[in-house]
Amino acid sequence: MSRVHVIGAGLAGLSAAVELAGAGRPVVLHEASPQAGGRCRSYFDAALDMEIDNGNHLVLSGNRATLAYADRIGTRAKLVGPGSATFPFVDLASAKRWTLRANDGLIPYWMLMRSRRVPDTGLSEYAELGKLLWAGRSATIAGTLACKGALWDRLIEPFLVAALNIEAGQGSAALAGQVVRETLAAGGRNYHPLVAREGLSNALVRPALSWLEQRGGTIVYGRRLRALSFEGERATALDFGDERIAVGPDEAVVMATPPQAAGPLLPGISTPTEFRSIVNAHYRVAPPKGLPPIMGVVGGTAQWLFAFPERLSVTISAGEAWLDTPREALAARIWADVAAIAGLPAAMPARWQIVRERRATFAASPEQDALRPGVETPWRNVALAGDWTQTGLPATIEGAIRSGVRAAQWVVEGRHG
Ligand SMILES: Cc1cc2nc3c(=O)[nH]c(=O)nc-3n(C[C@H](O)[C@H](O)[C@H](O)COP(=O)(O)OP(=O)(O)OC[C@H]3O[C@@H](n4cnc5c(N)ncnc54)[C@H](O)[C@@H]3O)c2cc1C
Repeated sequence: MSRVHVIGAGLAGLSAAVELAGAGRPVVLHEASPQAGGRCRSYFDAALDMEIDNGNHLVLSGNRATLAYADRIGTRAKLVGPGSATFPFVDLASAKRWTLRANDGLIPYWMLMRSRRVPDTGLSEYAELGKLLWAGRSATIAGTLACKGALWDRLIEPFLVAALNIEAGQGSAALAGQVVRETLAAGGRNYHPLVAREGLSNALVRPALSWLEQRGGTIVYGRRLRALSFEGERATALDFGDERIAVGPDEAVVMATPPQAAGPLLPGISTPTEFRSIVNAHYRVAPPKGLPPIMGVVGGTAQWLFAFPERLSVTISAGEAWLDTPREALAARIWADVAAIAGLPAAMPARWQIVRERRATFAASPEQDALRPGVETPWRNVALAGDWTQTGLPATIEGAIRSGVRAAQWVVEGRHG
């Protein structure tokens, strides 16, 4: 069986490699950095004196490719949640707290029950979400929904900002529609929240590497692809600077790097050009008893509060406004919200960290979505993968994993002929 080179060991590259190795193909994974996982990884943080994730990640039970990948590498049990579509929220402005509790079935009868709905919302506001399902590819969310009212402020905006990582109104209505189609509109069983409580690398990265190694896969770190050579319709060599590797006539390449790397390496490939950041703040403190593992926050600086063992963490999606704020000031500002929500002392814990991922994802606007390429390239033995390729989803774990599986299948089915 001919070898496949996978470039980039983020989730797209890992899922491609797992799919390929599962199909009996020899795989070499070339990763530029010293560790795998890309934008979805754990690391030891000296300020907190503990291993944390580069950012809090939430997946949903309807993320079928993610769960299939976790099943395959044997880590499904590491993605944990309440076992139901339950989302506690707090509104810092009004001090109101509520819990959205959806039933598992397709018919959302929970919406008929005032006690299970978002406070002060009417049924018609929920029905408006259906407009996203039929949105055209050039429509923005602001051009599709009214973007106001209690449901917007207390559920739809925080949900869409988290899912798309862009100011909600500017987001692609079609991408939002696909997320809604696969989750909110598919019944509660498709949006149970799931978190890698013992860390992203333990749930999605390290076990995949072991799984690959057991099947003869090779992973090489510190190997940054600098150029490809092409002859006619084929890639013929990979240039890593200090090393040049020939790509044999039957061999294939899966490019699973971010667009900033893939664009310059593959002439003529269209890639997104605009990005959005995600800011996370972490505080080393024991979560008070009874604090839910995930909480939506309305009217605060951050949008989501996560409770981990010995740590509270918050996420600010589309966090451009906070990129230049001094770290101490930002940590103190966010802590004021966290302390109010969790009933903790006003004094900030001594150990804290701010992590700003400046280019966390491509900007999920209709214009940027239109720049995303599919799996194929002009070269018959080069396939594309990555959350930024055309998956029909915003940049998410689910999109990255689906793209990797799709690229692997494209290679296995021999469409590169
Ligand atoms: C802070 C943060 C929070 C997030 N929260 C969520 C969430 O809650 N839910 C969710 O579903 N998604 C979330 N995401 C998005 C999710 O992490 C990404 O969509 C996903 O990890 C992207 O995977 P990828 O493999 O496509 O890309 P990457 O993870 O970027 O992987 C690309 C890999 O290629 C390597 N590479 C780059 N250039 C080269 C080269 N020239 N040669 C060799 N290797 C190279 C990189 O080092 C990297 O390892 C979040 C992202 C961030 C940053």
